[in-house]
Amino acid sequence: MYFSKLFAPTLREVPAEAEVISHQLLVRAGFIRKSSSGVYTYLPLAQKVLMKIMNIVREEMNKADGQEVMLPIIQPAELWLESGRWYVYGKELFRLKDRHDRDFCLGPTHEEIITDLVRGDVYSYRQLPLLLYQIQNKYRDERRPRFGLMRGREFIMKDLYSFDKDEAGLDVSYKKMYDAYTAVFSRCGLNFRPVEADSGVIGGSTTHEFMVIAESGEAQIVYCPECSYAANVEIAPCKPSENPQDIPKNREKVATPGQTTIEQVTGYLQIASHKLIKTLFFRADNEIIGVLVRGDRTVNEIKVQRLHPSLTMEMATPEEIRGVTGCEPGYVGPIGLKANVKIYADEEIRTLVNGVCGANEVDHHYINVVPGRDFTVTAFGDLRLIEEGETCPQCNAVLKSARGIEVGQVFKLGTKYSKALNAKFVDETGQEKLMVMGCYGIGVSRTMAAAVEQNYDADGIIWPMAIAPFQAVVVPVSVKDEEIWQASLEIYEGLLKQGIEVVIDDRNERPGVKFKDADLIGYPVRITIGKKALNEGVVEVKLRQEKEVNFVNKNDIISYIK
Ligand code: ATP
Ligand code: MG
Ligand code: MG
Ligand code: MG
Repeated sequence: MYFSKLFAPTLREVPAEAEVISHQLLVRAGFIRKSSSGVYTYLPLAQKVLMKIMNIVREEMNKADGQEVMLPIIQPAELWLESGRWYVYGKELFRLKDRHDRDFCLGPTHEEIITDLVRGDVYSYRQLPLLLYQIQNKYRDERRPRFGLMRGREFIMKDLYSFDKDEAGLDVSYKKMYDAYTAVFSRCGLNFRPVEADSGVIGGSTTHEFMVIAESGEAQIVYCPECSYAANVEIAPCKPSENPQDIPKNREKVATPGQTTIEQVTGYLQIASHKLIKTLFFRADNEIIGVLVRGDRTVNEIKVQRLHPSLTMEMATPEEIRGVTGCEPGYVGPIGLKANVKIYADEEIRTLVNGVCGANEVDHHYINVVPGRDFTVTAFGDLRLIEEGETCPQCNAVLKSARGIEVGQVFKLGTKYSKALNAKFVDETGQEKLMVMGCYGIGVSRTMAAAVEQNYDADGIIWPMAIAPFQAVVVPVSVKDEEIWQASLEIYEGLLKQGIEVVIDDRNERPGVKFKDADLIGYPVRITIGKKALNEGVVEVKLRQEKEVNFVNKNDIISYIK
């Protein structure tokens, strides 16, 4: 590729709204342009990186017996009503109507569509396990689209869905995917960690997030330097407090105007589902003074901890819930700070005490639950999250902490969707059974951004070789000098012949200008051809991640490009 022909408009200025480095550099280096909030155009350089990530993902999915399909992005509301998520998913779902006034949404995820496909065409145990995946755009009307590609409203995801005949089968599929994800992120050249994302509250681990370690990550994780234990602190078990007055480190003080503050909290009760944890906070007199909601998906299989065994509860109607919470049933929009904390006002919460105390079915919340009478809060904890310096729950070593970017997640769904959508098969004994499912997502566009967050310096991006848009750039110090230009062309064409993706900077610019652009774009290898080096039969090779230059024989360049 001649640089003069490459559509990579670089900028000197950092876009004002770009808070994180990947956003700044991807815009400056001419990889992406914003179309609207959270929606981006991928320019040729970005497209090349994305294709490389997708190919790695594709190869690993295929190796693990995944079969690629292309699924509709426009999804009918009927399926979402059937699964129960139409009302549960909340504002993140992009909804639209056709000319006949029928409801549709743009797929934020594809459990409904894939289960609908499989229930129609899979009927025997002989057809299982079945692993289907897609690499396509997803749409989520994120509350705060930000950080460029990291939290977009239109983004690229690979998602695979596994269908097995039993739990044991799901375990096998889950393990396959876990291993495939490990291979994907290793091959992308990233420093990452799989972390438990559900342990503690529910007990047992049914989901892992794959975290790229980076300062800018939105997630706080703890990990053990001695064993494999690692967890997202959001779901790691909270430690009982020695001093109930402790104010948690990474929770800021929040309150709606003139209301309850977090210091008044003396205890909590957690109600958890796979993707949503509700924590009710109590004052010393057991009055509920706050509700913390984390998570963003559907409420399912709620497990209530420490609930009095004799408790019976009524279900509130969707209307009552909307009335009380102002939110869609089963979904309380995250309000407030990073941790999605909302501390309700005293008045507000008094209404809530008689109202919401969690949910266990779509469109249903418990009502008329009174703390103390209906359940007892025996083990008070405080809000302090497990943190660095504490003891590893597995091996007693001292935990360390880091920040991470969630680039992927593997998840055991069980029969949630097969039950809702009636996806059954006939087993070896002729019995009808529900398929047991798993889902597994990789944020392809977020992975590209995460790679930049982890690999950059003051001059620009430093692409890992495996996902670099081009592996090398050839820089003639002068294009006016025929000898240098010819030698550069010869090297450039030689590399092309060997299958190397290479750019030749054919602009009539000073070497300094070319070097600046090369550093900004982040080619892993820069080959500079000057007269002096040429006379001695050597060229200057500089690796983007190293400071010093090497003079190497023209024929040895290839060994730098692996
Ligand atoms: P987050 O916690 O960051 O909101 P998520 O848990 O909602 O992500 P999943 O439903 O697990 O996301 O989707 C699978 C993957 O898709 C995520 O691990 C992430 O890499 C990617 N992803 C999710 N939301 C976005 C987004 N808004 N922009 C870019 N990538 C995203
Ligand atoms: Mg999300
Ligand atoms: Mg998440
Ligand atoms: Mg996730």
